Amino acid sequence: MLSTVTDGCFDVENIALDELGHVLGLGHHVNHYDNRDYGDSVVQTTSRARPRAFWNAHKLGRCDTATLQTRYDMTSTSALYSSCLNLAVNLRLRSSATSISSRSSVTFTATLVVGDNAGDGRLTGNPISNRTIQLQRRPRGTTTWTTVGTMSPSTTSGSYTLRQSPTATYEWRAVFPEPSGEGLRGAASTAVTVTVSGCSGTTCPQSAPVDTAADKVDGG
Ligand SMILES: [Zn+2]
Repeated sequence: MLSTVTDGCFDVENIALDELGHVLGLGHHVNHYDNRDYGDSVVQTTSRARPRAFWNAHKLGRCDTATLQTRYDMTSTSALYSSCLNLAVNLRLRSSATSISSRSSVTFTATLVVGDNAGDGRLTGNPISNRTIQLQRRPRGTTTWTTVGTMSPSTTSGSYTLRQSPTATYEWRAVFPEPSGEGLRGAASTAVTVTVSGCSGTTCPQSAPVDTAADKVDGG
């Protein structure tokens, strides 16, 4: 054994990790022309010798992890997708009713799954749990969305819910803001309209019947 580590040496753990990566099915990482992404992978065609950066990396790089995720899938629906990935997601929103009376409530349920991305292997369609999903609304026929709250993760994987008691007709959508530190893209669902009848005041849709008698029955 060398008494002092000299430049030009390779690190045996780093090389072993490269070989282990091959056992797991990883090919050599294809680096950018300027090797600026060398540190994203230890599974390299030419491992680096001391003293070059990452010569003694002892953990798989984020792009090694990405390849393993596409090949072997995630460890759980809450696990983070490698930032080496850039996956489109599908976000859907449905409501427990499309027409309600004023002062009753409606439950919104959003589902977030990995989209069908080229080369994403086993990840397509994976439910994505415990992320931040916002519920937004806008008066029907307008363009500006307002966030009304963050949806709560439900017991179903990749599913989020929020209950609302709107007093006017709105369009609603779910939004997944693009997360930092994870290889998922942001998304918005298509809008769903929940019509509210029996309301009063300026926020009522013109077409809604204003029936005070029915209101009293409703409220009783
Ligand atoms: Zn190798």
